[in-house]
Amino acid sequence: MLVAPHFLIGTAIAVYAPEAGPAALAAITSHFVLDSIPHRDTIGTTHINLGNIVMEIFDITITALIFWWIVPAHLRGYALLVGGAAILPDLLAIPSWFWPQLYRLPVINQLHSWHVDYLQDRNGSLNWFWGLLPQVLIILAVIWLIKF
Ligand SMILES: [Zn+2]
Repeated sequence: MLVAPHFLIGTAIAVYAPEAGPAALAAITSHFVLDSIPHRDTIGTTHINLGNIVMEIFDITITALIFWWIVPAHLRGYALLVGGAAILPDLLAIPSWFWPQLYRLPVINQLHSWHVDYLQDRNGSLNWFWGLLPQVLIILAVIWLIKF
């Protein structure tokens, strides 16, 4: 999934769970639950292309604006950390761009295979409407939960 639904679910967890340990665990767990929902988040067959870079800049900008709008000022630091935990499984992919052997390491190999190959539909069969709809609904639900 895009950054916005993952990060904003983490934000909602932070707003309603004041203890960092359980909140971080719930945020990481939420990542895998959300990724198991059929979705589309990639243009083409790889993450590294101009279309995906532009889409991610837009995704991160929207995420930051919604975050700033819905999270009370006194919770922003904590919500940033818990939201970060919610996107942690995807952030673990970044070192592999520079060191592809990372995915050959024990545990990392199995986690990556489960996260990408098993949980997520990578065959591109979902069109953008159905691929984005669950993500937009999650974002709207988080806004409703926190703001209204
Ligand atoms: Zn993921």
